[in-house]
Amino acid sequence: MSGKSVDGSSTTSIADLGRRVIAGGEITRDEALYLFNLESSADIFELFSWANRVREHYKGNKIHLCSIVNIKAGGCSENCRFCAQSALYDTSSPRYGLIDAESVLKAADEAQANNVTGLGIVAAWRGLEDGPVLDQICGVLEKLRDSGKARPDASLGMIRTQAVADRLRRSGLECYNHNLETSRSFFPKVCTTHSYEERVQTIRYLKNAGVSICSGGILGMGESREDRCDLAFALKELQPEFVPINILNPIEGTPFEKVPPMPPMEALKSIACFRLILPRQEIMLAGGRVVNLRDLQSLIFMAGASAMMVGNYLTTVNQSVEKDLQMIKDLGLDPQWGHSRSETAEPVAESPQSEVAPVAAIA
Ligand code: SF4
Repeated sequence: MSGKSVDGSSTTSIADLGRRVIAGGEITRDEALYLFNLESSADIFELFSWANRVREHYKGNKIHLCSIVNIKAGGCSENCRFCAQSALYDTSSPRYGLIDAESVLKAADEAQANNVTGLGIVAAWRGLEDGPVLDQICGVLEKLRDSGKARPDASLGMIRTQAVADRLRRSGLECYNHNLETSRSFFPKVCTTHSYEERVQTIRYLKNAGVSICSGGILGMGESREDRCDLAFALKELQPEFVPINILNPIEGTPFEKVPPMPPMEALKSIACFRLILPRQEIMLAGGRVVNLRDLQSLIFMAGASAMMVGNYLTTVNQSVEKDLQMIKDLGLDPQWGHSRSETAEPVAESPQSEVAPVAAIA
């Protein structure tokens, strides 16, 4: 595509944009939108090639793997239209109350046995306020921290005061997952029981508390390419360490159950665009990977992804961890379970929709 231009007045090519990002520069929103709108297969594969180079330049050949445990499932008061865990929708997703610290420590044992360094505890509810539930959660985080078995990460919904964020940090929380989900303008079509701004503010509180941030979104909910581009730039402003990308897996009983599946190449192209907009972040494939990408799953790394959620998701079932590890090794890449906080924190969870099961979460 080197002969094509980003817009009518410029002769910038995909290769120029890739070289600029590798040299430490940035691409503009117009340039990013141009990439999101690429249509020809030759252009899209050229974009993959540059996204792959950018990933290698900033992330080497390491692929970070994350895993989560659902500590409270279903019955959520919110109306996120993709989510099997909302109490407003009739889905077959499991429901149970807050599990005890012992069960979380058992999950930590398993994580340790599998060399997983971070364990994300995930709950399906609106959020956390001062009170007995916060006390309980802080107790779980402290036990997890003190056990030394796994790094305490979490995805526990909205946080509405700095004091709650600070307390979670003091209890050992290392990384918090809270997705923006989509663009600010498309968000009201996804959820009306809370606002985009509340999500942004939650991330700010946690960031101020010194907690690493994992924040991304869901593709394929009916949003435009412009919305995807806006999501990536909103995340760029917040500078999370991890950017989980979910691809909608429409779940029966939710309002999005009939949303047509996102074509795999469109999803992969979006991942590549995210890589050029967010070159230093860990871009992580989470829910919807298996069901939407099928045989093209291994292309996520060529498209610039540097991390992957493995194991079962909150409400759906993933392919086996062994198969995922084999895929990564076959590509000549090096699977890593998490890493230290000083590099980039590990995420916690994916969005609650997911293919395999998931999880709950988050949001
Ligand atoms: S995404 Fe999170 S907040 Fe929204 S309904 Fe599901 S569990 Fe509740």
